[in-house]
Amino acid sequence: MTELTLAGVAKRYDGTAALEGIDLTVRDGEFFTLVGPSGCGKTTTLRTIAGFESPTAGTVRFDGRAMDGVPPEARDVGVVFQSYALFPHMSVAENVGYGLRFREPPDGETVDERVRELLALVDLEGMGERDPEGLSGGQRQRVALARALAPAPDLLLLDEPMSALDARLRESLRRQVKRIQSELEITTVYVTHDQAEALAISDRVAVINGGRVEQVGRPQAIYREPATRFVAEFVGDNNVFEGAVRAREGERTRIDVGGETLAVSSEPVPPEANRVTVCVRPGALSRSAGTNRLPVAVETSEFLGETVRVHGRWNGTEMVLQLPEIPDDDELTVGFDPADAHVVAAD
Ligand code: ATP
Repeated sequence: MTELTLAGVAKRYDGTAALEGIDLTVRDGEFFTLVGPSGCGKTTTLRTIAGFESPTAGTVRFDGRAMDGVPPEARDVGVVFQSYALFPHMSVAENVGYGLRFREPPDGETVDERVRELLALVDLEGMGERDPEGLSGGQRQRVALARALAPAPDLLLLDEPMSALDARLRESLRRQVKRIQSELEITTVYVTHDQAEALAISDRVAVINGGRVEQVGRPQAIYREPATRFVAEFVGDNNVFEGAVRAREGERTRIDVGGETLAVSSEPVPPEANRVTVCVRPGALSRSAGTNRLPVAVETSEFLGETVRVHGRWNGTEMVLQLPEIPDDDELTVGFDPADAHVVAAD
């Protein structure tokens, strides 16, 4: 097992900064996810950990050991990429065994034993003689995972391994990856742009934006207590209202938002802040509840089965609601309780 640290890791390409200075610690045996929008630097961070890129500044450490100048093959990492990258002219078993050409199988096993063990681990028993071309996308990614794990690496790195799969397959592969990771207790760094996937699969998540870490935390904390407006919008799909603190009245704080006033719990309001962003999740707004009543002009409704997602506008701000039924009016009033708002200092 390995603890991974990144200290001030920056990367520039011809004057463009891909990473502005990343500080992270991934603990032994942890499932750690880098999530963020396209181009934020997730893949560059992963490639730097693997040793495919060398940082312009800062250091990557495995168990405290600086990896400066250590080539990828000497780093003891297993990597799975978005594209399957299996060798088409080799059988499934040969693909899985490939990593063992350069490294002895662990625990004195033979190559055949190790390959069989790995195929069983990824639920592909008996498929060793198959040709990768004849496998489904999900099966190919499981072969790629088995190949990465065959030499028993200290660290597993996964770069959007499910993004080429359809939604149903993604969910089942996600559960398998999580099960395998916790069985092996292997320190894992996972890259995705899908916030729901990040929350579902991870022990902890780092939200990356513009080559910087915006927030690191457990999924619940990232979701319920976003540290910045960016995290609130990217992860929780929050409604966000920019406003000014008008009055702090013990447990309640009143916030002016474009001529209207919202009441929120004082606890999450940063003590020194004047300009703040109020974040309210779609599910916290309902037609019956709430001290704060907002008349919303409905623009579109999407039927999603269990819920309906309604897009509209209140007081000039775009709103997203999650309601049990399609509203039959163009205007409806929804409310939220002060305790259901989260407040961050304005950026
Ligand atoms: P995506 O989800 O789209 O893969 P990402 O978050 O993984 O995005 P990176 O691929 O790490 O982002 O890219 C970060 C930034 O660095 C981007 O602006 C990208 O254009 C730039 N970049 C990455 N690799 C190179 C390269 N080899 N040469 C020049 N610029 C690069």
